[in-house]
Amino acid sequence: MATRPRTPTERSELDSPVEQVLVLMRSEWRTGTSGRYLDRIRKAIEELESQAPAQQTVEVIRSINGELNTYRASTVLGRQEQLKRTAERLKAVAPVLRPDEPPFGPIGTNPASLRTPKRVVRPSSTVVRRPDEPVTVLGGVGAAVAKRLSQLRIETIEDLLRHTPRHHIDFSRPQAIGQVGRMFGDESVTLAGWITELKTIPGKQRNRVEARITDGTGWARITWFNPFVAKQLAVGDEIVVHGPLDELRGGLSLTGPEWERRDSAVLARSRLIPVYALTQGIGQKQLRRLTRQAIDETRQTLTDPVPLSVLTDLDLVELKTAIDQRHYPVDRDHLADAMRRLAFDDLFFLQLGLIQRKRATEVLRGNSLAEGEGAIPEFLDRLPFQLTMAQQRAISDVSLDLGGSRVMQRLVQGDVGSGKTVVAAASALQATRAGFQTAVMAPTEILAGQLRATLGRLYESLGERAPTVALLTGSTKKRDRTILLDRLVNGEIDILVGTHAVIQDGVIFDRLGLTIVDEQHRFGVRQRGELPSKGAVGPAHVLTMSATPIPRSLNLVLLGDIDVSVIDEMPPGREPVITRRYFGEERSPAYELLRDEVKRGRQAFVICPLVEDSELSEMRSAVAESERLQRDVYPEFKVGLLHGRMSGAEKDRIMTSFKAGEFEILVATSVIEVGIDVPNATVMMVEAADRFGLAQLHQFRGRVGRGGGASYCLLLADDTSPMGEERLQMMEATTDGFVLAEADLRMRGPGDFLGTRQSGLPDLSMLRTGFDSRTLEQARRSAMQILDQDPDLSAPEHLALRNRVRKFWSSAVSDLAGA
Ligand code: ADP
Ligand code: MG
Repeated sequence: MATRPRTPTERSELDSPVEQVLVLMRSEWRTGTSGRYLDRIRKAIEELESQAPAQQTVEVIRSINGELNTYRASTVLGRQEQLKRTAERLKAVAPVLRPDEPPFGPIGTNPASLRTPKRVVRPSSTVVRRPDEPVTVLGGVGAAVAKRLSQLRIETIEDLLRHTPRHHIDFSRPQAIGQVGRMFGDESVTLAGWITELKTIPGKQRNRVEARITDGTGWARITWFNPFVAKQLAVGDEIVVHGPLDELRGGLSLTGPEWERRDSAVLARSRLIPVYALTQGIGQKQLRRLTRQAIDETRQTLTDPVPLSVLTDLDLVELKTAIDQRHYPVDRDHLADAMRRLAFDDLFFLQLGLIQRKRATEVLRGNSLAEGEGAIPEFLDRLPFQLTMAQQRAISDVSLDLGGSRVMQRLVQGDVGSGKTVVAAASALQATRAGFQTAVMAPTEILAGQLRATLGRLYESLGERAPTVALLTGSTKKRDRTILLDRLVNGEIDILVGTHAVIQDGVIFDRLGLTIVDEQHRFGVRQRGELPSKGAVGPAHVLTMSATPIPRSLNLVLLGDIDVSVIDEMPPGREPVITRRYFGEERSPAYELLRDEVKRGRQAFVICPLVEDSELSEMRSAVAESERLQRDVYPEFKVGLLHGRMSGAEKDRIMTSFKAGEFEILVATSVIEVGIDVPNATVMMVEAADRFGLAQLHQFRGRVGRGGGASYCLLLADDTSPMGEERLQMMEATTDGFVLAEADLRMRGPGDFLGTRQSGLPDLSMLRTGFDSRTLEQARRSAMQILDQDPDLSAPEHLALRNRVRKFWSSAVSDLAGA
């Protein structure tokens, strides 16, 4: 948006906010440049930034402020020079910082609408609030409104500041009404004008409000089905509206458009108006008024946790500006700057936490389990199969870590079926032989049971000398549990496999040396506190295993605090799952293929379409689908059903009976993703496959092809979006999880990619928009630099930063506890 050209002579700089700074500077001069006013001067200059109409001006002001960095270190003469120079530069920008006008020209391209604008009152609120105050201190927020706001997770003023808009409406370029006529389609228009008629028309359900607006070039009819609008507006008021045009019949008309008064406080400072996620009983305008107020009133108290040096280095805007511009941007460029800054914050806090943790664990002394190393080669020799190179690498990584003196934090990442359990078995054996116990945690009872059985099988060849493995879950009988716990504390159990039950009170190890967390991506266990710790022999080593491939390019920066071994090779002889894509009209061949497999004694999964709105409707569609398949398609087979509304025990029961072959076809919603092993299943059919993400499709596919012989992944989809189509093609093209993860990352960008992953990291939803790998790298580098100088962020200038990092991570932990 172009600013109206103004010359310094048009008005003197005296009525500019710059004058306030000049007054302070004169005072400073009078003290003999003692520096007494320096902080206030700098603060005042900072204030100017928020009033700058364009990024260029912001930069000029910032550089003026930057010059004062050396003020204190200068001689008196130098200080005088600096003051003079600063004053000159400030005077030069004064004309564009006029206080009583918005930094825009008046709304409207059409000359007739250029009437004298009403005086815009800049809400130069004198009220000052802290971000941590509750929303109820704001005007118009009583208990009832506060309660509704809490539905949006808004409790404090800071929450309001961080309630980021979903998008913005562009009120900046109203069209002349008389020239709109030739628009087609459902494109939205912005019109500005004054109201010439306003009436409330009674209706059956509710009243509607009809208004006529004109801008001198034409008129338009506006209808709102919200009778309240009549109370807010009057004939003669000037408004701006934005919305889709109704069918063109006679005149222009709009139904239920967004609107703002032309002289509203909101429009006075921004032409891109935020649209927020709402909840029952809270309107856009109300929320806008509240965010506006929250931003204005915290202008002086909102401290920027990110050190200035970092902001300057990376050319990031200040927090105040970022929040203001995230909500009420001057233009799209300002919005982009704000988003980049806010995305940076999350990455920066994330990295600070990760690196701190990494450094903290690096100095943690653990128990050396070197003594048990010798047991591994013998164990591997006796396995019925030859390890892949990748497995061997992972085992030797872990073994080496266990033998060292610092506590291990290692993640083994490998696709479903890549053979991670052997790695777990080898390390637990090493721990046993070194005289320590191992805890193994799995996310569900079924998986825990499966894991225990697998470990038992793998150790069979050791005969007498096999470690003692026991299972503890939520459904372990009380008596059995008592006996088990007794044996555990006496050291008679070498390996305890279980669910979260393993970390409950009363579970006490004798000498816990190693903790293994399987399917870590579903657990989100990242904190030491969530691992068993009661062994009284010093901190246990931690081995986590995950089947969620994360592209290497992100690994380093995301998992900054742990070491990673990647198993990127499948055991030999495994046939890749045959993946085929079908359109709706050709689903009968897909059904036939499934039928043939089941006739051959195999089993099949059918995944129902993803339903976005609720678990309930998802359940309904799954129920309907299972009934339809049973009745119309496969009356000769038995069809079962699994959905997210079932209890954990119920899900487990169904999976167990499916695994036991009690029915042939399992219809399921996406809950099936959980890593259950049904070797006899050879068909995975996915309905509306284009709606799922690549990672999820890949997980589905991983459910089959585990029992040897050919298996199939049948993807059904119609009317796919270009992105959806590309995903399906990728699925057909490769079965390599890492290749898919890279493709996913490329297609969606890191924000979305991470947003949907339960990576056990803090809530990264802020990252969904506007960040790139470069920002990620920058955040990492900045974090390292700061921690190099101030390892625990205890320097006074890092106080705000330290608090922020702590808060960022603690919200993450509480999220995980609920998961
Ligand atoms: P995941 O990585 O999904 O946990 P598992 O450890 O459960 O995979 O291994 C899947 C199957 O592959 C198991 O039946 C296991 O015995 C088998 N397996 C593991 N490694 C090999 C190998 N090197 N050669 C052949 N089969 C293997
Ligand atoms: Mg596994």
